[in-house]
Amino acid sequence: MEKGCLFCRILAKEISAKIVYEDDRAIAFEDINPQAPTHVLIVPRRHIAGLNDVGADDAALLGHLQLVAAEIARKRGLEDGYRTVLNTGRGAGQSIFHLHLHLLGGRGLRWPPG
Ligand code: AMP
Ligand code: ZN
Repeated sequence: MEKGCLFCRILAKEISAKIVYEDDRAIAFEDINPQAPTHVLIVPRRHIAGLNDVGADDAALLGHLQLVAAEIARKRGLEDGYRTVLNTGRGAGQSIFHLHLHLLGGRGLRWPPG
């Protein structure tokens, strides 16, 4: 747990969130400011600031986050079109420095993203 980290506090259940999935390595909850009908954040339990801070040992965990996203998408019937996004660094819009994968779906998604 990283002091002052919002997502660590959600993981510790100090701050409430609408949790939609939990296992020993990850948690998923609804984004507080949804950008699509489905906007879920998949978050590793271990505090990692972002993709600039991962190593080879994290490969399985990063893959696991994608598998959790795919499972949530399947459960919601989104197979026809959804997007998983990992913003890295302020220039890409990262605002919470605890790594998280966005799952967006339930509406048409244009390419390229802004
Ligand atoms: P990013 O900009 O990629 O770092 O994504 C951070 C996301 O966290 C944004 O989509 C926010 O809407 C979301 N967010 C911020 N605070 C909370 C919160 N308390 N509960 C759920 N989602 C949050
Ligand atoms: Zn954290």
